[in-house]
Amino acid sequence: MSDSPLFYQIGPALPEVSHADGVMIWDTQGKDYLDGCSGAISCNLGHGRQDIRDAMLAQMDKVAFTYRTQFENAPALALGHQLVELFDAELGKVFFISSGSEAVESALKLARQYFVARGQPQRQRFISLRPSYHGSTMGALGMTGYQPLEAPFTSMTHASIKVSGPDFYRHQDSDDDAHVDRVLAETRAAMEAAEPESLIGFVLEPIGGASTGARLLGKRYLQGIRTLCDEFGCLLIADEVLTGVGRTGTWFACQHYQLVPDILVTAKGLGAGYYPIGVMLARNHIVESVMASGGFQHGHTYAGNPLACATGLAVIKAIQRDNLLENTRQRGEQLEAGLRALADRYDWIGHVRGAGLLWGVELVADSASRCPFPAEQNRFAQITALAKQEGLLIYPRRTLDGIAGDHFLVCPPLTIQANEIETLLERLERAMARFEQALSTPAAA
Ligand code: PMP
Repeated sequence: MSDSPLFYQIGPALPEVSHADGVMIWDTQGKDYLDGCSGAISCNLGHGRQDIRDAMLAQMDKVAFTYRTQFENAPALALGHQLVELFDAELGKVFFISSGSEAVESALKLARQYFVARGQPQRQRFISLRPSYHGSTMGALGMTGYQPLEAPFTSMTHASIKVSGPDFYRHQDSDDDAHVDRVLAETRAAMEAAEPESLIGFVLEPIGGASTGARLLGKRYLQGIRTLCDEFGCLLIADEVLTGVGRTGTWFACQHYQLVPDILVTAKGLGAGYYPIGVMLARNHIVESVMASGGFQHGHTYAGNPLACATGLAVIKAIQRDNLLENTRQRGEQLEAGLRALADRYDWIGHVRGAGLLWGVELVADSASRCPFPAEQNRFAQITALAKQEGLLIYPRRTLDGIAGDHFLVCPPLTIQANEIETLLERLERAMARFEQALSTPAAA
């Protein structure tokens, strides 16, 4: 056992970080890494930005922290208005928190309180997808469809009803529309079986993140779920913790599909790695009902503090000023083309999917049958380790639920430039060539 007091993971000792600039990170041995996954899909503006530093320091010189029930603060008000405007839909009320899990918890509690306030306390169950990831706190974990994370806690969480979403890679239906219609019919059946009047809401990521390797759900499916929620009188909660604030080339992933949820949460990219901040946006009438019934019984100490909100404001300003949504779309196309070229070259790349600068690459043992590698071979870990040796960070996962298999995310900062995408692809290609070699050398494989 290592003598480090930190116990984040099992595995070899990690390199120690020295410093970072833009899309590059250096360790204390002088090795450089291209940050091809923005940390945990969070450092959306890259590292070492003077503008964010200056905005944070300016706020700290005034006041870093005040408590939300004692003072209004200008950055929180301004950021609240800004986010409402950026989503540009009927979600006019804002509640800040400090992380994605806290954001999901907040949404679950607001939705529950809404129905209690409306005299429907029998509504107490949520529906969500398997596979999915919604956070690590107990409430959010109950929504999460990822067996290894759930297993030790299943008897302690308030687990949602889990249903399957569409799988455009492996389905056997006649075409994509027929597939979506079948999946929606199955979801309707699950909602009916659950007693419709017991349902609070449907929680989903409009574009999948780490748990699915950026699986797309598509407009037909998402609009179908919107219709089902309306029909069953329950709320639609969009978890945009990972996809929000520009990651997919629009401010929010819902905007690709003209999807208007009842509650939307986001976090990671709002603080962009400079300060923890998350946010929940909700329809006015939901918040008005809850406030009229005695207020929202929820809150976290750091919620909406001036420094967090000043950071979020500076992040949004940088995205607007530097035209980063456009950059995300353009560099996303370049990245997609490079990943598809690699998929043409290597038979074990089964599927490339994504949007903006969020791309998932699924690995398969056999591309004809789309059969995944056996779990015990840990292919996702192998390819991630090879990429790291080649100076590229990617975000790996093996999905054991529903859609099977090894995959990794490529999701560099939204600031990445064309030549840096080339470097990313070159390093990935070198890692893949070594992976190919390992596969064809049985002893090493
Ligand atoms: N929801 C989604 C979709 C996420 O990707 C994550 C983080 N990976 C979370 C919730 C939880 O966020 P956090 O780690 O900030 O608590």
